[in-house]
Amino acid sequence: MERYIVLNAQFLFTPGPVNVAENLRSAVIKSDICHRELEFDTLLSNIEHKILSLFQIEKRNRYRVVVITGSGTAANESMLSSVAGQGDVLILSNGEFGERLANTSKIHNAHTHVIEKPWGKGFDLSQIEAFLDAHKVSVIAMVHHETCSGMLNPLHLIGALAQKHGALFIVDGVSSVGAEPVDMEGCNIAFCSSSSSKAIGSYPGLSFVIGQTIQFEKLKHHKPKTTYLDLALFYRFLTTTGQTPNTPAIPLFFALDQALTNILSEGVVKRFDVIRQRANDLRRGMLKLNLKFLIDEKDMCSILTTVHVPWSVNVSDLRRRLRENGIIIYEGKGCFKDKVFQVGNIGEMTDLDIIFFLQNLEVALLKCQAGGNDDVDPIRKSWPTLKLLDQSEEPAIS
Ligand SMILES: *Cc1c(COP(=O)(O)O)cnc(C)c1O
Repeated sequence: MERYIVLNAQFLFTPGPVNVAENLRSAVIKSDICHRELEFDTLLSNIEHKILSLFQIEKRNRYRVVVITGSGTAANESMLSSVAGQGDVLILSNGEFGERLANTSKIHNAHTHVIEKPWGKGFDLSQIEAFLDAHKVSVIAMVHHETCSGMLNPLHLIGALAQKHGALFIVDGVSSVGAEPVDMEGCNIAFCSSSSSKAIGSYPGLSFVIGQTIQFEKLKHHKPKTTYLDLALFYRFLTTTGQTPNTPAIPLFFALDQALTNILSEGVVKRFDVIRQRANDLRRGMLKLNLKFLIDEKDMCSILTTVHVPWSVNVSDLRRRLRENGIIIYEGKGCFKDKVFQVGNIGEMTDLDIIFFLQNLEVALLKCQAGGNDDVDPIRKSWPTLKLLDQSEEPAIS
C-alpha cells in the first residue's frame, strides 16, 4: 500500500475526508487549462454526465448538475439561498447538520420554520403532516444521512409529503451520495447537494447540486441573495457557456472526474454493496468487542457507525492511541461529546485495513481501560499488522 509510505498518510476511518484512490493523485496534476476554454467545458460536462449516471437518472434532460468550488456547506447554502424566494421554508432537523441547514436558512429566508427532534431520533410524520396542513410551505429541506448520529432519514416519506402539499423538497446528501441510493424522481426531490470528499471519494473542496431542470429554470425569477452561491447564476453559466461563473478549482475538477469514473467503472450498485459490506464487517467486529451502537442498525447509513464510548474509556485517550498507529476516527460533537465515537468506512479501504483497524481498536480499548499502562497488554507484540506502520519496511499487505 504505497499510499501510506509515500505520503506518511493516516488511515482515515472518518466520514470524510477519505483516503483517495491512487489515480486521483495523478489526476489533480493532469494539465493546466483555462476555465474559459473548451477543455474545461468538456471536463465539466463529463462530470455532469457521470453524476447523472451515479444518480441512475434515465431521463437525462430532466436533471442538471452544477458544480461549486466550496465544500458541502457551500452547496447547501446555495440551495437554501436560491430556491425559496419569499416563501416559507420548513427545515426538518434531527442533528448537527439539520441544525446547520436551519441556521443557514434563517440567514436567507425570513420565514424559516424548524421541526426539531433530538439528535439521533427519527421524525414523527404525523407532526410534520399537521404542520404542513396548518402552514403554506414552499420548501422542505432535510438531511438524508445525519452524519452526527449515522441515521438515514426517510427520503421517500418526506418526498411524498412535500408532493402532497405542493412544496419543493431539497435534500442535503453530502454524506450519503455515492454510498446510498438517492432516487431523485421517486422521492420527488427538486434539488440535492453533495460534496467531493465523502462517499464519492475525492479530495475536499468541491460540491455540487443536482436538480430538476424545470426547477433550475424557475430560479431566475427570484432575486439573488448571495453573489457567489447563486444557483440561478451557476445554472445560467452552465446552460449558456458550459462553464462556472467564477474561477473553479480546476485540479479538483480533474480529481472529481476521476473519482466518478472509478465509481462508474466499478458499477454503482456494486459500489453501494461494497461499502455496505465493509460497514457490516466493521460492525460485526465491534460487536464482538462488546461495543454498543447509538442507533439501530436498520436505521444506519452504510458509511458510518456511531458507537457508545464504554464507561471505562476516555474518548480522547482512545483517539490518541489509535492515532499513534495512524488511525483516525471521529469523536461525537454537541450533545454526543464524550459519549460516542464514529467509525467511517468510505474511501480507499481494503478488507485488511478493516482487520487492522479492529485489532488496533481492541488493543487501544484494553489500554484505555487499563489506565494507560502499556505493559499490561501482552497481545500487541504478536500482531504482525502493527508492523505496517513501520515506514522503513515494505508493507505486509497490498
Ligand atoms: C460533512 C457534512 C456537511 C458539510 O460538509 P462540508 O464539506 O464540511 O462543508 C453537510 N451535511 C452533512 C450531512 C455532512 O455530513
